[in-house]
Amino acid sequence: MTTIPETMKAAVLMGSNQLEIKEVPTPKPGPMEVLLKVASCACCSTDVALMDKPFLGQPPYGDFIPGHEYAGTVAALGETVDEFKVGDRVAVEAHLGCMRCKNCRVGNYTACLNYGTEKHRANGMTANGGFAQYVINNINTVYSLPDHIDFDEASLITNLGCVLYGFQTVGGYVAGDHVVVIGPGPLGLISAQVAKAFGAEKVYLIGTRASRLNVGAETGADRVINVHEEDPLEIILKETKGIGADLVVESSGAKDAPMTAIKMLKPMGKILLLGIPHEPVLVDFEDLLMKNKSIHTVRGEGWANVARAVSLLGSGKVTLKPYVTHSFPLDDISKAFKTFVERIGGAVKVVVKPNK
Ligand SMILES: [Zn+2]
Ligand SMILES: [Zn+2]
Repeated sequence: MTTIPETMKAAVLMGSNQLEIKEVPTPKPGPMEVLLKVASCACCSTDVALMDKPFLGQPPYGDFIPGHEYAGTVAALGETVDEFKVGDRVAVEAHLGCMRCKNCRVGNYTACLNYGTEKHRANGMTANGGFAQYVINNINTVYSLPDHIDFDEASLITNLGCVLYGFQTVGGYVAGDHVVVIGPGPLGLISAQVAKAFGAEKVYLIGTRASRLNVGAETGADRVINVHEEDPLEIILKETKGIGADLVVESSGAKDAPMTAIKMLKPMGKILLLGIPHEPVLVDFEDLLMKNKSIHTVRGEGWANVARAVSLLGSGKVTLKPYVTHSFPLDDISKAFKTFVERIGGAVKVVVKPNK
């Protein structure tokens, strides 16, 4: 058995947008926890947001290690753990919740009522995360990986889990449907691919960047629409004979996107909101109500959809590999985030390798 070092290298948040590589004590797993040796941890816009301005319940500066999208191997077991063994290859989900509030008790743990309190845990948000050589996970947030899924791809699995949670929330059944995805960010690109894998009649991907739209065209979108060149509403209405789309996945977070989504939706159609508008947006409730349209939201990768994500990836029906465009060692984490945020070299998802 490999010995666990007393200290480890970790990226610690020392102040707003101030990540520093430090040597810190290696954490020890509690009874229901495992210690994971992190192979890959992906940069996410949530990291960018919480490094700028702390989230509710975030550990204080100097104590907090971000990173919630990671994969690796089990390095040590808590005393009651017989679900895993040392050396197992695993992926994780960020949210554990509190396991005791009304929402958590019925499986809605990403909407935990104790979010941000001491009872609650979301790795990389309200507890330490994966931008470190080792990290602690409750076993309820750990999933075994088939050997043929590599760690870089597996580190993106919470994104797929989030999209699957969204699709499950809107009914899960898109075979034969016209599905529009607005915003070719990681969640949008994955949504287009999932819609196609689930049998959508036609998948449309709307965006502003040709490079991102090209990635989408290679991974599931039947028709990409660059808003600088074409009018998306006109195209969707024409393609659906004036009826509108069955499902619109809003993944851009743009202020006018929810209204665009409503306009391109057929009566009884659904909107899945994955993008986060950071200010109040205008919504035409008359159109929603009179045409029986509905808007659904999801927070995180709920209802154990990471398990479904592992299965889908394992079967080869969905791939996340095309979205892992760059990787950096932990020492270069600042460069990794710069590449991610500025989309340098066509970056989609950027992973950090803490043990390389
Ligand atoms: Zn994330
Ligand atoms: Zn809870």
